[in-house]
Amino acid sequence: MSDCVFCSIVAAELPADIVAEDEEFLAFRDVQPRAQTHVLIVPKVHVDDLDAWLASGGSSDRMLAFVTSVAAGEQVAGRYRLITNVGEDAGQTVAHLHWHVLAGPRLPGF
Ligand code: 5GP
Ligand code: ZN
Repeated sequence: MSDCVFCSIVAAELPADIVAEDEEFLAFRDVQPRAQTHVLIVPKVHVDDLDAWLASGGSSDRMLAFVTSVAAGEQVAGRYRLITNVGEDAGQTVAHLHWHVLAGPRLPGF
């Protein structure tokens, strides 16, 4: 999608601090980190959110396997928080499915 910031990162039209990728997914650091480790994981195809991903036949197994491999690569396996916001009311500001992997010495509660 041409006006989507995460599609622009996937297409390398916008710079990002890339952490990992495979055929389907890309992981990069959040530009405004809210924790010592704050990585975003996106599918390379444009999908609005988790509900749309699953409705279009996307694999939650493959996606979550990639997410956990990113956490392991960041040396935070066993001590991270995983969040995906679905819809503006939940706080989604970029309408391209993404998981936040957050980790650090003292994550705030919510
Ligand atoms: P949301 O609020 O949609 O769950 O999270 C969107 C996240 O994307 C925010 O944490 C925000 O800091 C991050 N973000 C927005 N624009 C960019 C960008 O251009 N590059 C990177 N690396 N992160 C971005
Ligand atoms: Zn997109």
